[in-house]
Amino acid sequence: SSIGAQKDRVVTKEEWLQKWETGNIGFHKEQGHPLLQQYLDVLLNGRSGLRVFFPLCGKAVEMKWLADMGHSVVGVEVSEQALKEFFVEHNLPYCEEPVPEISGAKKLQSVSGNISLYCCSIYDLSSSIVGKFDGVWDRGALVAVNPGDRQRYVSLMITLMEKNSSYLLVTVSYDPNKHKGPPFYVPESEIQSLFG
Ligand code: SAH
Repeated sequence: SSIGAQKDRVVTKEEWLQKWETGNIGFHKEQGHPLLQQYLDVLLNGRSGLRVFFPLCGKAVEMKWLADMGHSVVGVEVSEQALKEFFVEHNLPYCEEPVPEISGAKKLQSVSGNISLYCCSIYDLSSSIVGKFDGVWDRGALVAVNPGDRQRYVSLMITLMEKNSSYLLVTVSYDPNKHKGPPFYVPESEIQSLFG
């Protein structure tokens, strides 16, 4: 079946780190994502000073956009290189500290304090560590998660959301027999059943 073609695909942490090391990061959008501009009002819903979560954040420039608008941004990413490139490319001074609850994890935080990026696997996080969020920008995240981990990922995301939070999700539509992913094809019906 169309979904079966990708369901057992696994991309390891080492493979992701290697993509960053070799600059194989075609997913990175230097100018930011036009869909965030288009749907910003839906994310904000008239609110200011939000806590916004960026799962599997890479070095997404949208994090800088939202921080500049006065929101506070939290991201998580396995590649420390990606996170350092984010701060360096935006000329943002940052400091590093260990995360006592997660062995081997680090938190890189802008000195101004409004961008905190966790270097660890998203599955290491919980609301007791990062709190809950008013908004989520999920681009290159659900579609990058290994297909067998989708329910675990979504269940975790739900625990990280405040009651009135908004979740912007970007997916890609294509024939999964023609491309092995990532990004993986996540059909609308599966999104409905994952998020409920
Ligand atoms: N959202 C970003 C990056 C998309 S690519 C953007 O829009 O540009 C997916 C990213 O997820 C990669 O940078 C990869 O290193 C990271 N990643 C993959 N598995 C992860 C995991 N389990 N926890 C945290 N980050 C992960």
